[in-house]
Amino acid sequence: MSGEFWQQPVDSGGIPVSGEQFDAIVVGAGPGGCSTAGHLAQQGKKVLLIDKAIFPRNKICGDAVGGKSLSIVKSLGVKERLEQTPHLRVTGIVFSSPNQARVRIPLPEEDVEKLEAGYVVPRIQFDWLLFERVQKLVRDAGGSIIQGGEVREIIHNEDEDKSAIGVGVRIGGREGEMREFFAPWTVGSGGYQCPVMRNVLKEIHKEEIVDKKHYCASYREYWTGIKGCPAKTGDIEIHLVDGINPGYFWIFPTGAEGEANVGIGMVLTHLSKRKDKLKAMQSNIIANHPMFKERFAEAKIVEGSGAGWQLPFGSPRKKAKLQPRRNFSNGVLLVGDAASLVDPASGEGVGNALISGKIAAKHIVENRGGIEYQNELWGMLGGELTNSFGLQKMYQRTWLLNMLIKRAMKKPKIVELMADSIASKEEQAKLHSKWYLFKTVFL
Ligand SMILES: Cc1cc2nc3c(=O)[nH]c(=O)nc-3n(C[C@H](O)[C@H](O)[C@H](O)COP(=O)(O)OP(=O)(O)OC[C@H]3O[C@@H](n4cnc5c(N)ncnc54)[C@H](O)[C@@H]3O)c2cc1C
Repeated sequence: MSGEFWQQPVDSGGIPVSGEQFDAIVVGAGPGGCSTAGHLAQQGKKVLLIDKAIFPRNKICGDAVGGKSLSIVKSLGVKERLEQTPHLRVTGIVFSSPNQARVRIPLPEEDVEKLEAGYVVPRIQFDWLLFERVQKLVRDAGGSIIQGGEVREIIHNEDEDKSAIGVGVRIGGREGEMREFFAPWTVGSGGYQCPVMRNVLKEIHKEEIVDKKHYCASYREYWTGIKGCPAKTGDIEIHLVDGINPGYFWIFPTGAEGEANVGIGMVLTHLSKRKDKLKAMQSNIIANHPMFKERFAEAKIVEGSGAGWQLPFGSPRKKAKLQPRRNFSNGVLLVGDAASLVDPASGEGVGNALISGKIAAKHIVENRGGIEYQNELWGMLGGELTNSFGLQKMYQRTWLLNMLIKRAMKKPKIVELMADSIASKEEQAKLHSKWYLFKTVFL
């Protein structure tokens, strides 16, 4: 372990005794869990925040933290400190089409100047900063933290409503001891395999968890020595490569010259029709694709950095009564990946994890029902998630992408439309309005 402050262990205090009562138990201390616990603590609630990992811990991700995350990161008191650690300040997005046309979409200058446009920050660093701050907020408000505690059981009351009343946690690894903690609210923020989410969907409501049309498999590696990779300030790259469809290949520079998070993702239904794995597809692109082989000619992979994970999309499911899927039961709210909220076009999940945590905290403080939480969440995010699903479908029309990006190279109006659609979700809807697109591209 080297000497930077975000690489040090976090002293988060003692582990509470079995049987202790809290206002809320938060299971998982990623962005969703930290946002929930931090906002609850800021409003004076006694919280137990549990993670099975010990920080600093890694999370497989592209490491892009979009503008929508930054206001919450700021309100939790983390932004200034984050800016003192190495990161890339994102100024634009380079898109390329399957036939290798490239266009650069600048992010709004004002947002870039005010440091509100977005960053690339390795998650080992970003999550440490969030966790370190939130554990202080939680403890100052009388709550507790457990690192290295795996939630193994959700405890329900004996009444007919089977409300969740607590959790069973195994502390200290496989042979560790079990302790139980209690609260009127349990928040599931354990990511795409969250045990609270599995309990709500599978065991209590017998509802489907994985719908392959709305899940994405993704794989990332860290590289050094890539040509054309900026230091400190610059663009991220999204390449709509032929055959990786719907999905994309990305190069997200991490802030030091030549260094980047490089990855690939594809919707599960489409990936399962392919014989090759994502890792092999990525190796092939890096070694042979005309746009990348020269840039990677002298580059080196950071040993052991290759890893894959899944992303539960927030795209609307056909016939589902609750969109995108159930995210509550009695005494339980689900946030972040556990609530299936990843943007189906960009793969961004950190922002919606932070937002859902903030809304969940508000509902717990006001002691409102789960259905109200679900409705408010979908009311806030449903429009943009539905728009993004439309864009994801557009990725499948290779001819349209080729034409759009080729035209964008010559027509500033199209670049403007794409820039607006990144900055504003209402504008994004226009991108998959066939008439609007036709008008902008051809007239
Ligand atoms: C390859 C890849 C690339 C991605 N790129 C981006 C990107 O560039 N930008 C972006 O915004 N999003 C990206 N995402 C999505 C993003 O990583 C997630 O949406 C985000 O991490 C969700 O946050 P979360 O807090 O819900 O869950 P997580 O970040 O997964 O955190 C869950 C936490 O719960 C803990 N936990 C799990 N089970 C238990 C248990 N039983 N007991 C106690 N603790 C438990 C885990 O240790 C973990 O700390 C990417 C995802 C992948 C896989």
